[in-house]
Amino acid sequence: MTFISGSVTDDRASDLDRERARFRDELIAAQLLIPTGIDGLYGRSSDFEQIIDGIDRLVVKAGVAAYGASPRKLRFPPVFPRDAFEKTDYIASFPNLTGAISTFTGDNKDHRSLLADREAGRDWDHHLESAGTMLVSAACHPSYSTLPKTLSEEGVLLDVYGFCFRHEPAVDPARMQAFRMHEFVRVGTPAEARAHRDEWVGRGLDVLAELGLTARQEAANDPFFGRAGRILAAGQREENLKTELVVRLYGDLDDGTAVVSCNCHQDHFGEAFGITTAGGEVAHSACVGFGMERIALAMLRTFGLDITGWPAPVRAHLT
Ligand code: ZN
Repeated sequence: MTFISGSVTDDRASDLDRERARFRDELIAAQLLIPTGIDGLYGRSSDFEQIIDGIDRLVVKAGVAAYGASPRKLRFPPVFPRDAFEKTDYIASFPNLTGAISTFTGDNKDHRSLLADREAGRDWDHHLESAGTMLVSAACHPSYSTLPKTLSEEGVLLDVYGFCFRHEPAVDPARMQAFRMHEFVRVGTPAEARAHRDEWVGRGLDVLAELGLTARQEAANDPFFGRAGRILAAGQREENLKTELVVRLYGDLDDGTAVVSCNCHQDHFGEAFGITTAGGEVAHSACVGFGMERIALAMLRTFGLDITGWPAPVRAHLT
């Protein structure tokens, strides 16, 4: 019996692989995504960006509706200091997803040996040294080192939007290596952080419903690396720190794709970045991240690749 259920699972997995590859090929054929030769790295077309902009307007609107005004807007480049990256602990939890910036710091002799390797068709990357910078792993990560060490009574509420990098090349177009995340970040008391996480579950579902998507909420954990990571993941689930909003892009071939993530970090970043509340306690934080490309792909999957044929109420969000 085990054998039979195992082979059924294998069939489902290969059907899923085929479906993901087909979706990617369709997106490329429709010129919505432009291939670069590496899995998970794409150029985006004008139509694709029109969808992203439409989603973004609804995300911003949800922020304004929630707070009566726009939260403080911060935009960072896709590269940030290694010092700040170091404090996030990302390298401990997700070494396999990390991206570091390297550059050449040697002299003429070092340059000659780099060129000799290059000439011989060998790898030359090992001639490069750390540039002291990293690719942004989550949109909110560059923000914590810029916050005051002691928060005001109101704490901090941020609107952060930017590109993130995760090294997980995949055929599935919904698993990109470089993608945008629009986040609302709360830093304050434990109750404020927890409320932020909880409240955005409903708001996130509302945004997705307005875009015509059927989503469900699910307790989740981050893909922590290695054996120690399994313990971290179990703890994250046990303490109910992460809720994902999931849309089925591939029917019942898999459990769905997380398009929005609501996270409570407890005092992780407050501790690491030395941030305290006005009352002198270590600050807690939470963020909600809208995965912009994944939401766009869920819409393309739901309504078809030709946006001129989308239902009028959905199309209305694109202009
Ligand atoms: Zn975040």
